[in-house]
Amino acid sequence: PMDVLVVGGGPAGASAAIYTARKGFATGIAAERFGGQVMDTLGIENFISVPYTEGPKLAAQLEAHVGEYAIDVMKLVTASRLVPASQPGGYHTVEFSNGAMLKARTLILSTGARWRNLGVPGEETYKNKGVAYCPHCDGPLFKGKRVAVIGGGNSGVEAAIDLAGIVGHVTLIEFDSALRADAVLQAKLRSMPNVTILTSAQTTEVTGDGARVNGLVYQDRNSGVEHRIDLEGVFVQIGLVPNTEWLRDSGIALSARGEIEIDHKAATSIPGVFAAGDCTTVPYKQIIIAMGEGSKAALSAFDYLIRTESV
Ligand code: FAD
Repeated sequence: PMDVLVVGGGPAGASAAIYTARKGFATGIAAERFGGQVMDTLGIENFISVPYTEGPKLAAQLEAHVGEYAIDVMKLVTASRLVPASQPGGYHTVEFSNGAMLKARTLILSTGARWRNLGVPGEETYKNKGVAYCPHCDGPLFKGKRVAVIGGGNSGVEAAIDLAGIVGHVTLIEFDSALRADAVLQAKLRSMPNVTILTSAQTTEVTGDGARVNGLVYQDRNSGVEHRIDLEGVFVQIGLVPNTEWLRDSGIALSARGEIEIDHKAATSIPGVFAAGDCTTVPYKQIIIAMGEGSKAALSAFDYLIRTESV
C-alpha cells in the first residue's frame, strides 16, 4: 500500500507526484497515457518561462522529471472504480479495468478532460493543422486570418470575442436556432465589426488542401441548403468533458458537468481524496494551472497525512 496514489499522468498528476515524493511519501502514479492532453498538442507558447515547446517534448520532460524520484509509475492502466476508505485515516481502493487493485491512504485524482469532437469529415485529418480547440493557446497562430468558432454557448461566444481581437474575421456557427451564451456576451459579440453569426447551421465537413484547413461546409437547417466558407482555422467549442465517468458510483461530489468538486485546497468531498487539473471544478483549463493545482493537491495530501492517524 502507498501513502499517495495519483490517478492520471498529465501535468497535474506529474506535478502532484513530484511534490509528494519530495516529502518522502511512498508515491505511485497510475495513468492510461502519460502526458495526457499535452501529447495531442503541437506548439505550446504559454507555458511561462518556456517561450516555445511542443507537446511530446513537454510530456517527455514531465516523465523525466518524475523519473528523478522513486515514484512508482504504472502506465496503460485505466481506473474503473473508486472505493473510499470506510473511515478517515483508512485506505482508499482504486480498481482498474485489467482487474488490478491499488490501495493508498490518500488519492490525488487528476484524470483530466477531453474536448468534445464535432465528428465530421476533415476534423481528425486537420487537427493541429487548422482545427483547434483552445483559443488561449492557438488564437495568436491565426493572426489576421479567417476562422470559424463552432458552438454558441458561453465558451464558444467567449472564444469568438477573444479571437475577434486577434484574427481578421470570425464566423460563429451555432447548430440551434439561437445562441445559448449569456446575454452580455452575446451583446459584446454582436458589437464587434469583424464577426458574422450563423444560427441553425450544422457543420458537415472541414475541408483542406491536404496540408491545412481551407474551409468548412455547413448546412442551413431551415432550408437544407449547403454552404461553403473559405477560412484558415476552425475552433471547436462544443464542450470539455471531464474524465470522471469512473467515479460515478464512488459517492464523490461531482458538479452538474461531471467535474470533481474541489475547495480552495484541492480537497474533494471525501476526506483524504484530493483532485487537480482539468477533471475538477477549477476555473480555466491550462497546463500551467493544472501543474499549480497538482502541487496544491499534493501539499494538502501532505497536510492530511501528517495530521491523520493511520487506521
Ligand atoms: P490531462 O492532460 O487530460 O491528463 C489526464 C491524465 O489522466 C492522462 O494521463 C490520462 O491518460 C489519464 N487518465 C484519464 N482517465 C483515466 C483513468 N480512468 N484511469 C487512469 N488514467 C486516466 N494548455 C496550455 O496551457 N497551453 C496550450 O498550448 C494548450 N494546447 C492544447 C491543445 C490541445 C489540442 C488540447 C487538447 C489541450 C491543450 N491545452 C493547452 C490544455 C492542456 O493540455 C490541459 O489543460 C492540461 O493537459 C490538463 O492537465 P491535466 O493533468 O489536468 O489532464
